[in-house]
Amino acid sequence: MDCLFCKIAAGDIPSTKVYEDELVLAFRDIAPQAPTHILVIPKAHIASVAEIAPENSAVVAHIFEVIPQIAAGEGLKDGYRVVSNCGDHAGQTVHHLHFHILGGKQLALEMA
Ligand code: AMP
Ligand code: ZN
Repeated sequence: MDCLFCKIAAGDIPSTKVYEDELVLAFRDIAPQAPTHILVIPKAHIASVAEIAPENSAVVAHIFEVIPQIAAGEGLKDGYRVVSNCGDHAGQTVHHLHFHILGGKQLALEMA
């Protein structure tokens, strides 16, 4: 399968790693939209939020346990936003589940 984030998870394409364990990888977004912009992905391929199901949701819970640790490590004490774009209307460009962590400035309120 030709998936950019599977290749990053496998180490075949380089990334600026922020956190890694056996299940997940976090790395800096190549085109940051905030002073801190990190992507957290499951190492195993899941296409999007739409593909989360009882069989694969444990890793999603794990991702949300890891996110506060990453945010603390980045010093995001004033808050941050977690975003996952799912499908065309949301503008998802990489079809491997990922959660954006955005912070380090006052973020715009617009969600849509
Ligand atoms: P989305 O639009 O939600 O699918 O987000 C995809 C994100 O992946 C965008 O913010 C891109 O800047 C980011 N991105 C694309 N290629 C890379 C890469 N090689 N390394 C890090 N981030 C990337
Ligand atoms: Zn993938």
